[in-house]
Amino acid sequence: MAKLEILEYPDPRLRTKAKPVAKVEERHRTLAADMLETMYDAPGIGLAASQVDVHERLIVVDVSEDQNDPHILINPEYDKLGNPVESQEGCLSVPGYYERVSRSDKIRVRALNEMGEAIEFEAEDLFAICIQHEIDHLDGKLFVDYLSNLKRTRIRKKLEKQHKLTVS
Ligand code: ZN
Repeated sequence: MAKLEILEYPDPRLRTKAKPVAKVEERHRTLAADMLETMYDAPGIGLAASQVDVHERLIVVDVSEDQNDPHILINPEYDKLGNPVESQEGCLSVPGYYERVSRSDKIRVRALNEMGEAIEFEAEDLFAICIQHEIDHLDGKLFVDYLSNLKRTRIRKKLEKQHKLTVS
């Protein structure tokens, strides 16, 4: 397993729309294992392949406290079943910023697992919110897109400044 580099906002590669996985192969299982290691190390509760510069529709999620309930979802889709609920969100690609975002509190998910088998389940609360956040990444969307222009610009400028300081 290997730790991967996480792209940070406003890196334009985060805006790439990911392609569906035509056939689940060994390299997807390797990628998912590396993404889980990267996510646990960060630490985070979800990671999309887009964030590690692989533009295929694959996400990993684990909202358990003990980091022992990993979910690998390939070509994930969902229907909203619940009500909109606002919660504080963060993102490994937008380090240090947490803002309130509205999501559905219950969803029905369809995806392939790491063996390429079709799975379907219902997710609620944090699990549901995290899956919606990660699927947004596959569409090139970030949680800051739900914020006002003013807030988003402020976050972008601060992160750009930090990146410059890190590079120099
Ligand atoms: Zn994120």
